[in-house]
Amino acid sequence: MTKYIFITGGVVSSLGKGITTAALAVLLEKRGLKVSIQKLDPYINVDPGTMSPFEHGEVYVTEDGYEADLDLGHYERFSNGLVGRHSNATTGSIYSKVIQRERAGEYLGQTVQVIPHVTDTIKEIIEKGASKDTDIAIIEIGGTAGDIESLPFLEAIRQFGLERPKNDTMYVHLTLLPYLNASGEMKTKPTQQSVGKLREIGIQPDALVCRCEKPMDDSMRRKISLFCNVRPEAVIQEIDVPTTIYEVPLDLQRHGLDQAIAEHLNLPSSQIDMSDWENLVHQWANPEQDIEIGIIGKYIELHDAYKSIYEALSHAGTANKTKVHFRKISAESLCEKDPSAILEGVSGILVPGGFGERGLEGKISAIKWARENNVPTFGICLGMQAITIEFARHVAGIKDANTSEVNKECNNPVIDLMAEQKSIRDKGGTMRLGAYACKIIPNTKLAEFYGAEMVFERHRHRWEFNNNYKEVLEKEGLTASGIFEKQNLVEVVELSEHDFFIGVQYHPEFKSKPLNPHPLFKAFISAALKHYLNKAQGKHSVEA
Ligand code: GLN
Repeated sequence: MTKYIFITGGVVSSLGKGITTAALAVLLEKRGLKVSIQKLDPYINVDPGTMSPFEHGEVYVTEDGYEADLDLGHYERFSNGLVGRHSNATTGSIYSKVIQRERAGEYLGQTVQVIPHVTDTIKEIIEKGASKDTDIAIIEIGGTAGDIESLPFLEAIRQFGLERPKNDTMYVHLTLLPYLNASGEMKTKPTQQSVGKLREIGIQPDALVCRCEKPMDDSMRRKISLFCNVRPEAVIQEIDVPTTIYEVPLDLQRHGLDQAIAEHLNLPSSQIDMSDWENLVHQWANPEQDIEIGIIGKYIELHDAYKSIYEALSHAGTANKTKVHFRKISAESLCEKDPSAILEGVSGILVPGGFGERGLEGKISAIKWARENNVPTFGICLGMQAITIEFARHVAGIKDANTSEVNKECNNPVIDLMAEQKSIRDKGGTMRLGAYACKIIPNTKLAEFYGAEMVFERHRHRWEFNNNYKEVLEKEGLTASGIFEKQNLVEVVELSEHDFFIGVQYHPEFKSKPLNPHPLFKAFISAALKHYLNKAQGKHSVEA
């Protein structure tokens, strides 16, 4: 029988509910339990795929081709579970389902209402989110207690608990203990009020996780316990961790979250071994080198817009005993200026994915600078397309080479719309999405870095390397080192004589984990580190 943990949030958004949920999954998996995670989002978009990164951060792509909330990225990075389209539902997707059923006459003449029809659909989705062998299903409810939009979700999880034995469901509420400088103390009132909001609709939290900047003392814990009607041992501190978010599982364990959960859900007692996470945090905190990587993006103001990329670079840094710093560079700023002034000193550049014209020429000019200066370069999706355009223009001499995404009339579209995309008009869920097999060409850098003949990587794009230019570009030295054989699509291009000059049409960042960094990111950081050390050595010998 699956047991259910519902995670809600209160007081303010951006408390790190996704990270807390993912960290909790780690602790439960360490007990040998099979855990599934689901995120229910209150917004009306059917999925986040059509939202701008400025609105909602990156769109995370699952193996089965679903465009998901970025919290699913945290879940996959922390836990062993694989998420998919069943792991995320939104108000929009739930209402579409209800309306479809109504149109199909499935409600047999009833008046269709939020209770019971919408709430029943939410409960059905929660049940389907866990497979038969799941021991614990964790369900994170997006938004903040008190929001109008979250109400149907909260009502549904209240009913869900009522319909099951008491110890089979648990409500964990994440709140904030703000610290007031003026009075020099942390305040519990917002927590009391947000628990009050939950109790208004009939949910009594079984545990509180209190986000705070300073430690929560025992008297504060007792006060919160008394006012919120939660046992003191289930009032857990979650303090800001100094080194990395990957310390959160260790911190929550130290403060007794898994113990409180085990007691409530009657889980068998178990000693858990967290040494792999302890080693990771130790390595993270004690790098031997520091390097800087230039991220040439369109949305650099917002860290969440390239969340998985920053995470993957940091994972790879730890694997190389190196702290990776990010120089976030607006691609547009490179359109007008000499790139060397902006890029000088970075040990590698990463050109991430994107859509549309803005900043593309800046990305191309950064790539030209990196190629000419032998700086390790990693292009992802649009970044791979920009590598191809740059090479075509400046090495193969195809001066007007471009992507037909920005210039439909282009005479030399080295990047072109895929045939099956030409008739598609709808924007939502219609790109080439999810995992596809990539055959790796032997004796290439790609083969060396992966050490495999075939890999599966996730996609999210409409445009593609144009095979009409494959021969001429390969002749000039741009090797197509990864192919999707079924449709003969070029997935990877590389300059094999460089230590690392690779463009991938897919998104390897979605598969990197702190305990298992992605091989391409590892190789990229290793090449960047080598570049950094060579430069440092060169500088020293000149000074000597
Ligand atoms: N805009 C490009 C395409 O659709 C690249 C997409 C991306 O970088 N995710 O092909």
